[in-house]
Amino acid sequence: MSKVRVRFAPSPTGALHIGGVRTALYNYLFAKKNNGDFILRIEDTDKKREVQWAENYINNSLNWLGIEPDESPNKGGDFGPYKQSDRSEIYRKYALQLVEEGKAYYAFDTAEELDAMRERLKVAKASSLNYNAISRTQMKNSLTLSDDEVERRIKSGEPYVIRICIPLKEEIRFNDLIRGWVVVHSSTMDDKVLLKSDGLPTYHLANIVDDHLMKVTHVIRGEEWLPSAPLHVLLYQFLGWEDTMPSFAHLPLILKPDGNGKLSKRDAEKHGFPIFPLSWKEGENMVQGFKETGYYPDAFLNFLALLGWNPGTEQEIFSIDEMIDAFSIEKINKSGAKFDIQKAEWFNQQYLKNKPDEELVAELTEQASVNGHTIDQNKAVAIVYLMKDRVTFSWELYSNAKFFFHAPEDYDQSVTSSKWTPEAVNVLKAFSEKISSLKLDTPDEFKQVLLKVLDEKGVKMGKVMQALRVSLTGEGAGPDLMGSLPILGNKEVAERIQQAISTIKAA
Ligand code: GLU
Repeated sequence: MSKVRVRFAPSPTGALHIGGVRTALYNYLFAKKNNGDFILRIEDTDKKREVQWAENYINNSLNWLGIEPDESPNKGGDFGPYKQSDRSEIYRKYALQLVEEGKAYYAFDTAEELDAMRERLKVAKASSLNYNAISRTQMKNSLTLSDDEVERRIKSGEPYVIRICIPLKEEIRFNDLIRGWVVVHSSTMDDKVLLKSDGLPTYHLANIVDDHLMKVTHVIRGEEWLPSAPLHVLLYQFLGWEDTMPSFAHLPLILKPDGNGKLSKRDAEKHGFPIFPLSWKEGENMVQGFKETGYYPDAFLNFLALLGWNPGTEQEIFSIDEMIDAFSIEKINKSGAKFDIQKAEWFNQQYLKNKPDEELVAELTEQASVNGHTIDQNKAVAIVYLMKDRVTFSWELYSNAKFFFHAPEDYDQSVTSSKWTPEAVNVLKAFSEKISSLKLDTPDEFKQVLLKVLDEKGVKMGKVMQALRVSLTGEGAGPDLMGSLPILGNKEVAERIQQAISTIKAA
C-alpha cells in the first residue's frame, strides 16, 4: 500500500473556525497513526474572498496547537508549491485536456444570460435551475456554437469559462469512510465551472489536481464538502486518475449547544464563549480565541478530538500521543457533535490540576507582578495549593485570589444585609482580638481559636462563617476560608475584621 498522505486545505478567507481546527487535528492524527505525511495546502484561488492575515492566522493556530505539517508553504516539500496561487500554471492544462476529450467545454455566457436562463427555468417550473445537459443546449458554449465561432471568440479576447460536461444519466457512487456508500444521480448535478474567466481554476479543479499531484491518499474534510464529492469523483474519472483516487471521509458537523444547526460565530457571541483558536480583530472588536481565554493547547486539542470521535472506552484524558495511538476513522461519529463549553472548561481544569505546582506558582508570581505586587514564594505556593482545584484557567489563580493582595474596599451587600448580624460581629470582634496576640501558622490553629470563641459566646459556626468571609474578602464566596487565614496572617486577619466592623452596618 502506498504511504498515507493527507492534507488540510483551508482557504484563507478569515479566521479558522473550530471545525477547521478539528479537521486539521483529525488529518494530523490519522497521518501520524499511519506513519504518513500531513500536508498543509493553502487554497487561495478565490481572490475575491481572500483575507490578507488569514494565512498567518492558520499558521499561528496550528503552531500554537503543535499540529506541525510535514509539508507546507513555509516548510516546503517534494510536492510543492503548497499554495495554489503559486501553482496557477498547472491547472489550465488539465482543463484544456478535458475540453479536448469532450469532458468539458468553453462557455461564453454573460452574467445576464445566466440570470435569464435561470428565470426561464423558473417560469417553466423546471426541476432544477442548473446549467446541465438540458439547459446547456440553449446557451452560448462550444457545444452549441461552431468550432470556428468558438475560435473567433477566444481569439478576439471574449471572456469565457470552462465547464465540466456532466453526463445526462449516470450514477456516481463512492464509499465514504464515515457514511458508507453515497450514490448521486448525475441529472441532479451542475456543469460546474472548472476554469474561471480570469484563467484561475475553481476550487473543484484545483483541489482534485493538487490532491492527485500531491499523492493524497485520504481526503478527510468537513461535511459541507459532501455535496461536492460526486463532482470530484467524476473529475477523477474524467482525468483518468480513478485508480489512485483518494478515499473520502466527511466529518460530522459541530452543532450549536442545543443541537439545532451548525455552530456559528453568532452562537459564540450570544453565549460569550470562544469558537476560534486565537483572538482576531473584527473592525474595532476583538473576537476572543481559546488561547487568549486561557485554554492550554493540549486541553483544547483533547476536547476537540472527542467532539465527534469516540474512542470507545471510558478514557477522556488523552495526551497527543495517546490520541494518535487510539485514533481511527471508523470511530468518528456519523451524527453531528454538540458543542459544549462546560466540557471544554472541564478539560482545562483537568490539565491545570495536572500541571506541576512550580509552573502555576511561576504564573501566579508573574500575574501578581504585572499587577504591581511582589509575592513571597511561600505565600505563592500556599495560594496555588488553595486555589488549584477551584479554577478553570491559570489566570484565575490571581484574579480569584486578589483579596490576598489587598483588603476589600467594599463589601457585598447581598451578604452583609443578611449575615452581618450583631451575633456574628460579637464573635468576630472577640476572635480578632484573640488572634492579634497569637502566633498562628495553620488553618487548624485558627480554627481552634474560632471554635473557642464560638463556644464562649454560645454561637454556632454556621452563623459566623459568611460574615468572616465577607470581612476578609468583601465577597460571599471564594476559596476555603480556614485555608486562607494563615496565608493572610493573623495580623492582617485581625485588621481586616476591625476594618469591616467599623465600616459595615449591622444587618
Ligand atoms: N479549501 C476548502 C476549504 O476551505 C477545502 C475543502 C477540502 O478539504 O477539500 O475548506
